Amino acid sequence: MTDLHETSRRLAELNLTHATLLVDEARARRNIRRFVTRAHAAGISLRPHFKTHQSADVAAWFREDGVDRATVSSLGQACYFADHGWRDLTLAIGLNPREMDDLTELAGRIRLGVTVDHPAQVEALATAAPTPLEVWLEVDVGYGRAGVPHQNHRRLAELAVAVEAHGHLICRGLLTHAGHSYGGDSELATRVFHDAHHGLATLRRVLERPELLISAGDTPGFMAVENWSGIDEARPGNFVFFDLMQHAAGVCTDTDLACAVACPVIGVYPERRQAVVHAGAVHLGKEALDTPDGPVHGRLLTMSRHGFGKLTADGVVTGLSQEHGTVTFDSEKQTAALTPGDLLLVLPVHSCLTCEQFAAYRTTDGHQLQRYARI
Ligand code: PLP
Repeated sequence: MTDLHETSRRLAELNLTHATLLVDEARARRNIRRFVTRAHAAGISLRPHFKTHQSADVAAWFREDGVDRATVSSLGQACYFADHGWRDLTLAIGLNPREMDDLTELAGRIRLGVTVDHPAQVEALATAAPTPLEVWLEVDVGYGRAGVPHQNHRRLAELAVAVEAHGHLICRGLLTHAGHSYGGDSELATRVFHDAHHGLATLRRVLERPELLISAGDTPGFMAVENWSGIDEARPGNFVFFDLMQHAAGVCTDTDLACAVACPVIGVYPERRQAVVHAGAVHLGKEALDTPDGPVHGRLLTMSRHGFGKLTADGVVTGLSQEHGTVTFDSEKQTAALTPGDLLLVLPVHSCLTCEQFAAYRTTDGHQLQRYARI
């Protein structure tokens, strides 16, 4: 039996009927433990970003390893995790002044951190109900998405003063996401990590505010750099599952890959060495890796007796439309051996966005994992 048939047979044992996101629990738990151990050894606080999995069940695996705080990227996620017993959350996305009512209600229930980079956001916090809130100043260390540029000391100093003018607001520290660590190799991720730390440490010194904490979070940086010292808080998230993008950048190994989509074959076309699965952009997400052979939207994983197996050299998702995924193989013979109804296991390019497509997950042992439903 080929690896693909063995994989299909094992997936069929889970009684899957349609595209289903599977999590290898043992691998995810190992990924979690590795980060918990490293943060502990570095003496820094781990506040993992839960936007990757958005699942109270996966969050419980973190809690079992002693994690009691987390990061989220929407107020909806924050309420969901608060409802599941999480009492210390940071909303690491620019504060939306239109959400003040729900935000202050939540801040009355848990320890809540919010993120600002503009005086109007501080003003919104100041005029809302006077509930204690921890405020992070968002700093751009080169990603160019959000945050005050780290060189703009004056603007950051003014923001800190504005926050502290209000008794119920505590200025907690400097928060950054160095997302420009993506898209290269570990050398790039290491350089970005050190530059980010240097920029934030300089800023803290210039502001003469040693009490401000430095909070950083991107999986490539924290994987690439051995010594995390100088950072007070780590907020990576993707590391719980990893994905093809991280694998292609050398951030993780085959055995770290912890989520994939089981996809039913609905068409077989040996003459063009392609099969079609009922798993398109609405299941896998639309992200692609650029390769010399064209865009890649996913690669095939095998299943073993213990969960996920290895990444196969053959079988690449080369095309996606809304519901269809096109998988291209090396040989006509291998393609012809497939039949509609077979199940292929596709490793997605970006697990955060793929997870977002599913209302619930299954573990490779067949258990259901619940997930936050975006309103
Ligand atoms: N913090 C913020 C503000 C983010 O936007 C992200 C990811 O987008 C993270 C932390 C986690 O980074 P990663 O997904 O690389 O683990």
